[in-house]
Amino acid sequence: MIRVEPHLQAVSLPANLRINDQISEYRARCEAEGCDAPYHHFAFGQSPFPPPPDVVEALAQNAKKHSYLPTAGLPELREAIAAYHVRHFRVACSGEQVVCSPGSKEMIAAIMTAVAGPVIVPTPSWVSYLPQARILKRQVIGLRTREEDGYKLAPDVLIRGIQQLGSSQKILVLNHPHNPTGAVYTEDELGELADVCRRENIVVIADEIYALTAFDFDSFTSMMKVYPEGTIVTGGLSKDRSSGGYRFGVGIFPKEPSELLESVLKVAGSTYSCVAAPVQYAALAAYSGGSSVDAYVRDCRAVNTLAGRLISSKLAALDGVKSTTPRGAFYLYADFNAQAEQFKQLDLSSCAHFCENLLEVEHTALLPGDALLLPADDYSVRCSFVDYDGEKALSAWRDDPPKDESDEMRFAQKHFEIMLAGVSNIGRYVDEIRAGKRPTHG
Ligand code: PMP
Repeated sequence: MIRVEPHLQAVSLPANLRINDQISEYRARCEAEGCDAPYHHFAFGQSPFPPPPDVVEALAQNAKKHSYLPTAGLPELREAIAAYHVRHFRVACSGEQVVCSPGSKEMIAAIMTAVAGPVIVPTPSWVSYLPQARILKRQVIGLRTREEDGYKLAPDVLIRGIQQLGSSQKILVLNHPHNPTGAVYTEDELGELADVCRRENIVVIADEIYALTAFDFDSFTSMMKVYPEGTIVTGGLSKDRSSGGYRFGVGIFPKEPSELLESVLKVAGSTYSCVAAPVQYAALAAYSGGSSVDAYVRDCRAVNTLAGRLISSKLAALDGVKSTTPRGAFYLYADFNAQAEQFKQLDLSSCAHFCENLLEVEHTALLPGDALLLPADDYSVRCSFVDYDGEKALSAWRDDPPKDESDEMRFAQKHFEIMLAGVSNIGRYVDEIRAGKRPTHG
């Protein structure tokens, strides 16, 4: 009998994969019963757009490159990534500070492997930091952020949360634009956190994979700008350049100590060796693509901003539902706790039960709070606003961008129809719950 490591029992499969399985199961069941009502998938986390054509072309052109490349990445690619960060984020950065990886998830795991100290994760949180830390047998401290702070980590919450940890080094995972709330920190807010981090010996993993999706990108600040000596930034091509399946990520390290980057390279070289050669050339096109890639990122951002603003305002208008107003990324965070008592009385005793029931009854998928590191009976969810044909929407936007609010509404009715119908489904469902009725599949 093959035994597995017992600590992996505490690690669950990513909830989004579980929900995809659930959708397939319900869909098959519905079809067998002759129900053809569509599904509304707010549990996804993937860019709806096709990748930039220059990047696809570079990948195809380099398909024959099959040699191993340097673990940190091609020197010209590392330079291009550094230059991209200097240009977009106004930070000082050079190619030697850059390490490439097959996705930023892998980079975050390599950093957590190399850097000493307990891992502090503000919650609600992206689904994967906790499993990664658990796989690595690291101590994790979840810090609950407050609604009145816009679910951003406030300095006093950080200070209180680390009180029992003493003066030795700690790691804070700070993600913005934030998955799942869509929150973006201001430069002042980051500066205040940086002061605490300096004082309290905290290294920051700044997960800025959504940086270029920030709706108001001109006022986006990287943590690296305010805390350069203690921040490791992670990013990549998965979100703003819509190439998640290419698996390309990046870590940008402080200049000192050199041992840090060397240690991450030891982990990288001993686990993934290097990013696939054709993908490194595609990444070179993505980071040095100049105006055509910039225009692509800008136009995708405009469509995504409209989707985020519209879906959050529609959800917030429903009785019994609170929604964040996202300022970046593909997500908002919605709170259904006003119905907590009714849910419990109707035998929907956890947020996961509620989401399962909503999916079954209304064909509408949300990501339950337990996947975001929240208690099982907190009826809060992540809602992604990416369930539309991004290729069509992007091309329509480029042909004829909306000029005013009524144009935007027309655009939304046409391209975001499935999401708007999903929000109506949620409204109908919540009304039934509030009336004390357990909804059933009709
Ligand atoms: N961080 C956050 C907050 C994410 O949402 C994701 C993807 N869902 C990642 C990191 C990982 O992205 P990738 O590995 O594709 O770079």
